[in-house]
Amino acid sequence: MTRANSELNYESSSSSLDGPLPHPMRQLGVGRLGPRVLEARAMTPAVSAAEDRGPVRLAGAARAELACALTDLGVADRERNMRVSQLWHWIYHRGARDFSAMRNIARPLLDRLAERHNLARPEIVAEQVSADGTRKWLLRLPPVDARDKGAEIECVYIPESGRGTLCVSSQVGCTLNCSFCHTGTMPLVRNLTAAEIVGQVLVARDRLGDFPGGVAPTDGLVPSGEGVRAVSNIVFMGMGEPLYNFEAVGDAIAVLTDGDGLSLSRRRITVSTSGVVPEMSRLGAECGTMLAVSLHATNNPLRDRLVPLNRKYPIEQLLQACRDYPGASNARRITFEYVMLKGVNDTPAEAKALVRLLKGLPAKINLIPFNPWPGSNFECSDWETIERFSEIVFNAGYASPVRTPRGRDILAACGQLKSESEKLRARARMMLEESLVVGQD
Ligand code: SAH
Ligand code: SF4
Repeated sequence: MTRANSELNYESSSSSLDGPLPHPMRQLGVGRLGPRVLEARAMTPAVSAAEDRGPVRLAGAARAELACALTDLGVADRERNMRVSQLWHWIYHRGARDFSAMRNIARPLLDRLAERHNLARPEIVAEQVSADGTRKWLLRLPPVDARDKGAEIECVYIPESGRGTLCVSSQVGCTLNCSFCHTGTMPLVRNLTAAEIVGQVLVARDRLGDFPGGVAPTDGLVPSGEGVRAVSNIVFMGMGEPLYNFEAVGDAIAVLTDGDGLSLSRRRITVSTSGVVPEMSRLGAECGTMLAVSLHATNNPLRDRLVPLNRKYPIEQLLQACRDYPGASNARRITFEYVMLKGVNDTPAEAKALVRLLKGLPAKINLIPFNPWPGSNFECSDWETIERFSEIVFNAGYASPVRTPRGRDILAACGQLKSESEKLRARARMMLEESLVVGQD
Protein backbone atom coordinates (compact mmCIF):
# COMPACT_ATOMS: atom_id res chain seq x y z
CA MET A 1 0.00 0.00 0.00
CA THR A 2 1.44 3.34 -1.01
CA ARG A 3 -0.37 5.52 1.44
CA ALA A 4 1.97 7.06 3.93
CA ASN A 5 0.77 7.91 7.37
CA SER A 6 -1.41 10.92 7.00
CA GLU A 7 -0.99 13.99 9.07
CA LEU A 8 -3.08 13.87 12.19
CA ASN A 9 -3.86 17.50 12.50
CA TYR A 10 -4.87 18.86 15.84
CA GLU A 11 -5.44 22.46 14.88
CA SER A 12 -8.50 22.81 16.96
CA SER A 13 -8.04 26.53 17.33
CA SER A 14 -10.03 27.87 16.32
CA SER A 15 -22.77 10.51 -5.17
CA SER A 16 -22.98 9.09 -6.13
CA LEU A 17 -23.16 7.69 -9.67
CA ASP A 18 -26.76 8.29 -10.26
CA GLY A 19 -28.05 11.26 -8.51
CA PRO A 20 -27.71 13.73 -5.76
CA LEU A 21 -26.34 12.88 -2.38
CA PRO A 22 -28.79 12.39 0.36
CA HIS A 23 -27.70 14.14 3.45
CA PRO A 24 -28.62 11.84 6.21
CA MET A 25 -27.44 13.74 9.19
CA ARG A 26 -28.14 17.17 7.91
CA GLN A 27 -31.25 17.36 5.79
CA LEU A 28 -33.41 17.94 8.71
CA GLY A 29 -35.06 20.69 10.52
CA VAL A 30 -36.91 22.49 7.75
CA GLY A 31 -40.36 21.74 6.52
CA ARG A 32 -41.06 19.91 3.34
CA LEU A 33 -39.21 21.66 0.57
CA GLY A 34 -41.23 22.30 -2.48
CA PRO A 35 -40.75 21.24 -6.02
CA ARG A 36 -37.27 21.17 -7.34
CA VAL A 37 -35.88 21.62 -3.93
CA LEU A 38 -32.67 20.80 -2.58
CA GLU A 39 -30.12 18.79 -3.49
CA ALA A 40 -29.61 20.45 -3.45
CA ARG A 41 -28.14 17.06 -1.62
CA ALA A 42 -2.67 4.14 10.60
CA MET A 43 -4.84 1.46 10.19
CA THR A 44 -5.03 0.43 13.79
CA PRO A 45 -5.22 -3.21 12.98
CA ALA A 46 -8.46 -5.06 13.53
CA VAL A 47 -6.15 -7.66 14.89
CA SER A 48 -4.87 -5.21 17.45
CA ALA A 49 -2.53 -5.86 20.31
CA ALA A 50 -5.44 -7.19 22.21
CA GLU A 51 -4.34 -10.69 23.05
CA ASP A 52 -4.45 -9.64 26.66
CA ARG A 53 -8.02 -8.37 26.29
CA GLY A 54 -9.71 -11.49 25.06
CA PRO A 55 -10.71 -12.49 21.55
CA VAL A 56 -9.61 -10.39 18.60
CA ARG A 57 -12.28 -9.26 16.18
CA LEU A 58 -11.87 -10.26 12.57
CA ALA A 59 -14.98 -8.54 11.19
CA GLY A 60 -13.64 -5.52 9.35
CA ALA A 61 -10.13 -6.95 8.98
CA ALA A 62 -8.06 -6.57 5.81
CA ARG A 63 -6.74 -9.62 3.96
CA ALA A 64 -3.26 -9.08 5.43
CA GLU A 65 -4.72 -9.12 8.92
CA LEU A 66 -6.57 -12.35 8.26
CA ALA A 67 -3.32 -13.82 6.97
CA CYS A 68 -1.54 -12.73 10.16
CA ALA A 69 -4.24 -14.27 12.31
CA LEU A 70 -3.95 -17.56 10.42
CA THR A 71 -0.17 -17.56 10.67
CA ASP A 72 -0.48 -17.08 14.42
CA LEU A 73 -2.75 -20.10 14.52
CA GLY A 74 -0.08 -22.16 12.78
CA VAL A 75 -1.69 -22.38 9.33
CA ALA A 76 1.01 -23.43 6.85
CA ASP A 77 2.20 -20.98 4.18
CA ARG A 78 0.93 -23.11 1.31
CA GLU A 79 -2.57 -23.16 2.74
CA ARG A 80 -2.79 -19.59 3.93
CA ASN A 81 -3.99 -17.75 0.82
CA MET A 82 -6.76 -20.24 0.28
CA ARG A 83 -7.88 -19.92 3.92
CA VAL A 84 -7.81 -16.12 3.68
CA SER A 85 -10.05 -16.28 0.61
CA GLN A 86 -12.45 -18.59 2.40
CA LEU A 87 -12.63 -16.39 5.48
CA TRP A 88 -13.02 -13.32 3.27
CA HIS A 89 -15.93 -14.87 1.43
CA TRP A 90 -17.68 -15.85 4.64
CA ILE A 91 -17.10 -12.58 6.46
CA TYR A 92 -17.80 -10.10 3.66
CA HIS A 93 -19.85 -11.90 1.06
CA ARG A 94 -21.99 -14.05 3.34
CA GLY A 95 -21.92 -11.83 6.41
CA ALA A 96 -21.04 -14.71 8.75
CA ARG A 97 -21.16 -13.81 12.41
CA ASP A 98 -19.95 -17.14 13.67
CA PHE A 99 -17.06 -19.32 12.56
CA SER A 100 -19.20 -22.42 12.83
CA ALA A 101 -21.16 -21.31 9.74
CA MET A 102 -18.06 -21.72 7.57
CA ARG A 103 -18.82 -25.13 6.19
CA ASN A 104 -15.87 -25.45 3.83
CA ILE A 105 -13.27 -24.87 6.54
CA ALA A 106 -12.08 -27.84 8.59
CA ARG A 107 -13.50 -28.04 12.10
CA PRO A 108 -10.15 -28.01 13.97
CA LEU A 109 -9.19 -24.71 12.33
CA LEU A 110 -12.62 -23.24 13.04
CA ASP A 111 -12.22 -24.25 16.68
CA ARG A 112 -8.82 -22.60 16.86
CA LEU A 113 -10.19 -19.47 15.20
CA ALA A 114 -13.07 -19.33 17.66
CA GLU A 115 -10.72 -19.69 20.64
CA ARG A 116 -8.77 -16.57 19.76
CA HIS A 117 -11.06 -14.53 17.51
CA ASN A 118 -14.62 -13.50 16.93
CA LEU A 119 -16.72 -11.82 14.26
CA ALA A 120 -18.38 -9.31 16.57
CA ARG A 121 -19.58 -6.00 15.17
CA PRO A 122 -19.66 -2.67 16.99
CA GLU A 123 -22.35 -2.88 19.67
CA ILE A 124 -25.66 -1.18 18.84
CA VAL A 125 -26.45 1.16 21.73
CA ALA A 126 -29.49 2.73 20.10
CA GLU A 127 -31.39 2.24 16.88
CA GLN A 128 -33.97 4.68 15.65
CA VAL A 129 -36.22 4.17 12.67
CA SER A 130 -37.97 7.09 11.05
CA ALA A 131 -41.41 6.89 9.52
CA ASP A 132 -39.69 7.45 6.15
CA GLY A 133 -37.39 4.45 6.64
CA THR A 134 -34.30 6.43 7.62
CA ARG A 135 -32.40 4.54 10.29
CA LYS A 136 -29.87 5.84 12.72
CA TRP A 137 -27.59 3.74 14.88
CA LEU A 138 -25.49 4.75 17.82
CA LEU A 139 -22.63 2.28 18.03
CA ARG A 140 -20.19 1.55 20.84
CA LEU A 141 -16.69 0.49 19.91
CA PRO A 142 -14.54 -1.79 22.00
CA PRO A 143 -11.66 0.01 23.76
CA VAL A 144 -8.43 0.14 21.74
CA ASP A 145 -6.20 0.60 24.79
CA ALA A 146 -6.35 0.79 28.56
CA ARG A 147 -7.24 4.52 28.54
CA ASP A 148 -10.06 4.12 26.03
CA LYS A 149 -13.45 3.88 27.73
CA GLY A 150 -15.21 2.66 24.59
CA ALA A 151 -16.06 5.37 22.09
CA GLU A 152 -19.47 5.91 20.52
CA ILE A 153 -20.17 6.84 16.93
CA GLU A 154 -23.20 7.26 14.72
CA CYS A 155 -24.17 6.04 11.34
CA VAL A 156 -27.32 6.70 9.36
CA TYR A 157 -29.06 4.81 6.58
CA ILE A 158 -31.30 6.49 4.02
CA PRO A 159 -33.37 4.31 1.73
CA GLU A 160 -34.51 5.78 -1.54
CA SER A 161 -36.09 4.34 -4.58
CA GLY A 162 -33.52 2.07 -6.18
CA ARG A 163 -30.72 2.78 -3.77
CA GLY A 164 -29.79 3.02 -0.11
CA THR A 165 -27.08 5.25 1.27
CA LEU A 166 -25.15 4.67 4.45
CA CYS A 167 -23.49 7.66 6.07
CA VAL A 168 -20.46 6.55 8.09
CA SER A 169 -18.22 8.24 10.64
CA SER A 170 -14.44 8.35 10.28
CA GLN A 171 -13.41 9.80 13.64
CA VAL A 172 -14.78 10.07 17.15
CA GLY A 173 -15.21 13.84 17.37
CA CYS A 174 -13.27 16.18 15.09
CA THR A 175 -10.31 18.55 15.31
CA LEU A 176 -11.86 21.11 13.01
CA ASN A 177 -14.24 23.46 14.75
CA CYS A 178 -16.63 24.39 11.97
CA SER A 179 -18.84 26.89 13.74
CA PHE A 180 -22.18 25.45 12.58
CA CYS A 181 -21.33 21.78 13.20
CA HIS A 182 -22.19 19.93 16.37
CA THR A 183 -19.35 17.44 15.94
CA GLY A 184 -17.04 20.47 15.82
CA THR A 185 -17.87 21.16 19.47
CA MET A 186 -16.52 17.75 20.48
CA PRO A 187 -12.82 17.18 20.94
CA LEU A 188 -11.23 14.56 18.77
CA VAL A 189 -11.24 11.42 20.88
CA ARG A 190 -9.54 9.28 18.31
CA ASN A 191 -9.41 8.15 14.72
CA LEU A 192 -11.51 5.15 13.84
CA THR A 193 -9.68 2.09 12.62
CA ALA A 194 -10.40 0.74 9.15
CA ALA A 195 -12.14 -2.21 10.78
CA GLU A 196 -14.40 0.13 12.75
CA ILE A 197 -15.36 1.98 9.56
CA VAL A 198 -16.11 -1.30 7.79
CA GLY A 199 -17.91 -2.45 10.97
CA GLN A 200 -20.51 0.30 10.47
CA VAL A 201 -21.33 -1.15 7.05
CA LEU A 202 -21.54 -4.68 8.47
CA VAL A 203 -23.96 -3.54 11.18
CA ALA A 204 -26.16 -1.81 8.63
CA ARG A 205 -26.16 -4.82 6.31
CA ASP A 206 -26.97 -7.15 9.23
CA ARG A 207 -29.87 -4.99 10.34
CA LEU A 208 -31.20 -4.48 6.83
CA GLY A 209 -31.05 -8.15 5.88
CA ASP A 210 -28.55 -7.27 3.18
CA PHE A 211 -26.46 -10.44 3.39
CA PRO A 212 -27.56 -13.64 1.65
CA GLY A 213 -30.30 -15.29 3.69
CA GLY A 214 -30.87 -12.09 5.67
CA VAL A 215 -34.33 -10.84 6.47
CA ALA A 216 -35.14 -7.31 5.36
CA PRO A 217 -37.22 -5.11 7.67
CA THR A 218 -40.88 -5.58 6.95
CA ASP A 219 -41.69 -1.89 6.61
CA GLY A 220 -41.24 -2.09 2.83
CA LEU A 221 -39.07 1.02 2.90
CA VAL A 222 -35.73 -0.69 2.39
CA PRO A 223 -34.90 -1.42 -1.24
CA SER A 224 -35.01 -5.19 -1.68
CA GLY A 225 -35.45 -7.85 -4.31
CA GLU A 226 -33.35 -9.97 -6.61
CA GLY A 227 -29.94 -8.34 -7.07
CA VAL A 228 -30.99 -5.20 -5.17
CA ARG A 229 -28.78 -4.03 -2.36
CA ALA A 230 -30.13 -2.26 0.67
CA VAL A 231 -26.77 -0.52 1.09
CA SER A 232 -25.68 0.52 -2.39
CA ASN A 233 -23.91 3.78 -1.60
CA ILE A 234 -21.60 4.98 1.16
CA VAL A 235 -20.93 8.58 2.14
CA PHE A 236 -18.23 9.63 4.60
CA MET A 237 -20.36 12.38 6.05
CA GLY A 238 -20.78 11.27 9.62
CA MET A 239 -18.56 12.37 12.47
CA GLY A 240 -15.03 13.46 11.69
CA GLU A 241 -12.82 14.64 8.86
CA PRO A 242 -12.03 11.58 6.73
CA LEU A 243 -8.92 13.10 5.17
CA TYR A 244 -7.37 13.50 8.63
CA ASN A 245 -7.71 9.77 9.00
CA PHE A 246 -6.55 8.97 5.51
CA GLU A 247 -4.86 5.65 6.20
CA ALA A 248 -7.84 4.04 7.87
CA VAL A 249 -10.35 5.52 5.43
CA GLY A 250 -8.26 4.28 2.49
CA ASP A 251 -7.89 0.83 4.01
CA ALA A 252 -11.61 0.67 4.73
CA ILE A 253 -12.40 1.65 1.14
CA ALA A 254 -10.14 -1.18 -0.05
CA VAL A 255 -12.15 -3.67 2.01
CA LEU A 256 -15.51 -2.21 0.97
CA THR A 257 -14.69 -2.32 -2.74
CA ASP A 258 -13.06 -5.76 -2.84
CA GLY A 259 -14.92 -7.66 -5.55
CA ASP A 260 -14.91 -10.94 -3.62
CA GLY A 261 -16.53 -9.41 -0.58
CA LEU A 262 -18.72 -6.38 -0.04
CA SER A 263 -17.99 -5.37 -3.60
CA LEU A 264 -19.19 -1.78 -3.47
CA SER A 265 -18.42 0.38 -6.46
CA ARG A 266 -15.88 3.19 -5.88
CA ARG A 267 -18.23 5.43 -7.79
CA ARG A 268 -20.84 4.81 -5.16
CA ILE A 269 -18.55 5.87 -2.33
CA THR A 270 -18.27 9.59 -1.62
CA VAL A 271 -15.73 11.09 0.75
CA SER A 272 -16.65 14.50 2.09
CA THR A 273 -13.92 16.90 3.19
CA SER A 274 -13.94 20.31 4.78
CA GLY A 275 -11.00 21.08 2.49
CA VAL A 276 -7.85 19.20 3.47
CA VAL A 277 -6.15 20.29 0.26
CA PRO A 278 -2.91 18.24 0.49
CA GLU A 279 -4.79 14.95 0.77
CA MET A 280 -7.34 15.49 -1.96
CA SER A 281 -5.33 14.32 -4.96
CA ARG A 282 -4.21 11.25 -3.00
CA LEU A 283 -7.81 10.39 -2.37
CA GLY A 284 -8.59 10.45 -6.06
CA ALA A 285 -5.41 8.68 -7.12
CA GLU A 286 -5.32 5.97 -4.47
CA CYS A 287 -8.96 5.41 -3.57
CA GLY A 288 -10.76 6.50 -6.75
CA THR A 289 -13.86 7.56 -4.88
CA MET A 290 -16.19 10.45 -5.52
CA LEU A 291 -15.38 13.69 -3.75
CA ALA A 292 -17.63 16.07 -1.85
CA VAL A 293 -16.32 19.41 -0.63
CA SER A 294 -17.90 21.38 2.19
CA LEU A 295 -17.75 24.86 0.71
CA HIS A 296 -20.48 26.77 2.57
CA ALA A 297 -19.20 30.23 1.63
CA THR A 298 -18.07 32.05 -1.48
CA ASN A 299 -15.49 34.38 0.06
CA ASN A 300 -12.56 33.76 2.37
CA PRO A 301 -13.53 36.00 5.31
CA LEU A 302 -16.87 34.20 5.69
CA ARG A 303 -15.42 30.75 5.05
CA ASP A 304 -12.67 31.47 7.61
CA ARG A 305 -15.47 31.96 10.13
CA LEU A 306 -17.58 28.95 9.15
CA VAL A 307 -14.82 26.45 8.30
CA PRO A 308 -11.68 27.57 10.16
CA LEU A 309 -9.53 25.22 8.10
CA ASN A 310 -10.02 27.80 5.35
CA ARG A 311 -7.37 29.95 7.05
CA LYS A 312 -4.88 27.26 6.16
CA TYR A 313 -6.26 26.27 2.76
CA PRO A 314 -8.26 29.19 1.34
CA ILE A 315 -10.92 28.90 -1.34
CA GLU A 316 -8.53 29.45 -4.28
CA GLN A 317 -6.31 26.53 -3.18
CA LEU A 318 -9.33 24.38 -2.47
CA LEU A 319 -10.83 24.97 -5.91
CA GLN A 320 -7.48 24.33 -7.58
CA ALA A 321 -7.31 20.97 -5.77
CA CYS A 322 -10.81 20.27 -7.10
CA ARG A 323 -9.73 21.13 -10.64
CA ASP A 324 -6.82 18.71 -10.19
CA TYR A 325 -8.90 15.95 -8.59
CA PRO A 326 -8.02 12.73 -10.42
CA GLY A 327 -10.94 11.30 -12.30
CA ALA A 328 -13.26 14.30 -12.01
CA SER A 329 -15.30 14.74 -15.16
CA ASN A 330 -18.80 15.64 -16.20
CA ALA A 331 -19.75 12.04 -15.59
CA ARG A 332 -18.04 12.09 -12.19
CA ARG A 333 -18.78 15.47 -10.76
CA ILE A 334 -17.49 16.85 -7.50
CA THR A 335 -20.26 17.64 -5.05
CA PHE A 336 -20.09 21.03 -3.37
CA GLU A 337 -21.96 21.14 -0.10
CA TYR A 338 -23.47 24.43 0.95
CA VAL A 339 -25.26 24.67 4.27
CA MET A 340 -28.06 27.24 4.26
CA LEU A 341 -27.54 29.60 7.21
CA LYS A 342 -30.08 32.33 7.74
CA GLY A 343 -28.69 35.80 7.13
CA VAL A 344 -25.14 34.41 6.84
CA ASN A 345 -24.58 32.94 3.38
CA ASP A 346 -28.01 32.74 1.78
CA THR A 347 -28.52 35.87 -0.36
CA PRO A 348 -29.20 35.76 -4.11
CA ALA A 349 -25.85 37.55 -4.56
CA GLU A 350 -24.14 34.62 -2.84
CA ALA A 351 -25.98 32.13 -5.02
CA LYS A 352 -24.66 33.99 -8.06
CA ALA A 353 -21.18 34.13 -6.55
CA LEU A 354 -21.35 30.37 -5.97
CA VAL A 355 -22.23 29.76 -9.60
CA ARG A 356 -19.38 32.04 -10.73
CA LEU A 357 -16.90 30.34 -8.42
CA LEU A 358 -17.70 26.87 -9.72
CA LYS A 359 -17.67 27.86 -13.38
CA GLY A 360 -15.72 25.37 -15.45
CA LEU A 361 -15.61 22.76 -12.70
CA PRO A 362 -17.48 19.47 -13.10
CA ALA A 363 -19.69 20.23 -10.11
CA LYS A 364 -22.93 19.32 -8.40
CA ILE A 365 -24.32 21.54 -5.69
CA ASN A 366 -25.84 20.18 -2.52
CA LEU A 367 -27.82 22.80 -0.65
CA ILE A 368 -28.16 21.54 2.89
CA PRO A 369 -30.75 23.02 5.22
CA PHE A 370 -28.89 23.85 8.42
CA ASN A 371 -29.82 21.43 11.14
CA PRO A 372 -29.89 23.37 14.39
CA TRP A 373 -28.58 21.93 17.63
CA PRO A 374 -28.86 23.23 21.18
CA GLY A 375 -26.35 25.99 21.72
CA SER A 376 -25.69 26.68 18.03
CA ASN A 377 -25.51 30.32 16.97
CA PHE A 378 -27.13 29.78 13.60
CA GLU A 379 -30.58 29.31 12.18
CA CYS A 380 -31.66 27.56 9.03
CA SER A 381 -32.57 29.86 6.15
CA ASP A 382 -36.29 30.06 5.62
CA TRP A 383 -38.04 28.16 2.90
CA GLU A 384 -38.45 31.03 0.46
CA THR A 385 -34.79 31.97 0.77
CA ILE A 386 -33.71 28.41 0.07
CA GLU A 387 -36.08 28.29 -2.89
CA ARG A 388 -34.71 31.53 -4.29
CA PHE A 389 -31.14 30.33 -3.82
CA SER A 390 -31.82 26.97 -5.45
CA GLU A 391 -33.62 28.70 -8.32
CA ILE A 392 -30.49 30.70 -9.18
CA VAL A 393 -28.33 27.58 -8.93
CA PHE A 394 -30.84 25.64 -11.03
CA ASN A 395 -31.03 28.34 -13.69
CA ALA A 396 -27.26 28.23 -13.94
CA GLY A 397 -27.53 24.60 -15.01
CA TYR A 398 -27.05 22.73 -11.76
CA ALA A 399 -29.65 20.06 -11.16
CA SER A 400 -31.58 20.72 -8.00
CA PRO A 401 -33.89 17.73 -7.73
CA VAL A 402 -36.65 17.62 -5.19
CA ARG A 403 -35.39 16.30 -1.92
CA THR A 404 -37.32 16.23 1.26
CA PRO A 405 -35.30 16.31 4.43
CA ARG A 406 -35.14 12.77 5.74
CA GLY A 407 -35.63 11.21 9.09
CA ARG A 408 -36.70 14.41 10.78
CA ASP A 409 -38.61 12.50 13.40
CA ILE A 410 -35.57 10.59 14.60
CA LEU A 411 -32.56 12.67 13.76
CA ALA A 412 -30.90 15.68 15.07
CA ALA A 413 -27.65 17.32 14.18
CA CYS A 414 -24.75 14.99 13.77
CA GLY A 415 -23.50 14.07 17.18
CA GLN A 416 -26.78 14.77 18.90
CA LEU A 417 -27.79 11.17 19.39
CA LYS A 418 -24.42 10.64 20.99
CA SER A 419 -24.88 13.59 23.30
CA GLU A 420 -28.38 12.38 24.14
CA SER A 421 -26.88 9.11 25.27
CA GLU A 422 -24.25 10.98 27.28
CA LYS A 423 -27.05 12.98 28.91
CA LEU A 424 -28.78 9.76 29.77
CA ARG A 425 -25.66 8.41 31.35
CA ALA A 426 -25.14 11.66 33.23
CA ARG A 427 -28.71 11.40 34.50
CA ALA A 428 -28.14 7.81 35.56
CA ARG A 429 -24.98 8.91 37.35
CA MET A 430 -26.87 11.70 39.10
CA MET A 431 -29.56 9.29 40.19
CA LEU A 432 -26.93 6.95 41.50
CA GLU A 433 -25.23 9.78 43.38
CA GLU A 434 -28.60 10.86 44.77
CA SER A 435 -29.33 7.34 45.92
CA LEU A 436 -25.91 7.21 47.59
CA VAL A 437 -26.67 10.45 49.39
CA VAL A 438 -30.04 9.05 50.42
CA GLY A 439 -28.25 5.89 51.52
CA GLN A 440 -26.07 7.93 53.89
CA ASP A 441 -29.10 9.17 55.84
N1 SAH B 1 -15.77 16.51 7.99
C1 SAH B 1 -16.29 16.31 6.71
C2 SAH B 1 -17.37 15.24 6.66
C3 SAH B 1 -18.33 15.22 7.80
S1 SAH B 1 -19.40 16.60 7.91
C4 SAH B 1 -16.78 17.61 6.12
O1 SAH B 1 -16.83 18.60 6.83
O2 SAH B 1 -17.07 17.61 4.93
C5 SAH B 1 -20.50 16.28 6.52
C6 SAH B 1 -21.25 17.52 6.04
O3 SAH B 1 -22.24 17.96 7.01
C7 SAH B 1 -20.37 18.72 5.80
O4 SAH B 1 -20.73 19.33 4.59
C8 SAH B 1 -20.73 19.61 6.95
O5 SAH B 1 -20.40 20.93 6.68
C9 SAH B 1 -22.19 19.37 7.12
N2 SAH B 1 -22.77 19.78 8.41
C10 SAH B 1 -22.19 19.74 9.62
N3 SAH B 1 -23.03 20.17 10.57
C11 SAH B 1 -24.18 20.51 9.96
C12 SAH B 1 -25.45 21.02 10.41
N4 SAH B 1 -25.68 21.25 11.69
N5 SAH B 1 -26.41 21.23 9.50
C13 SAH B 1 -26.17 20.96 8.20
N6 SAH B 1 -25.01 20.48 7.71
C14 SAH B 1 -24.02 20.26 8.58
FE1 SF4 C 1 -15.43 18.34 11.46
FE2 SF4 C 1 -16.83 18.23 9.14
FE3 SF4 C 1 -17.99 19.05 11.44
FE4 SF4 C 1 -16.18 20.62 10.25
S1 SF4 C 1 -18.18 19.97 9.42
S2 SF4 C 1 -16.30 20.15 12.46
S3 SF4 C 1 -14.77 19.09 9.48
S4 SF4 C 1 -17.20 17.00 11.02
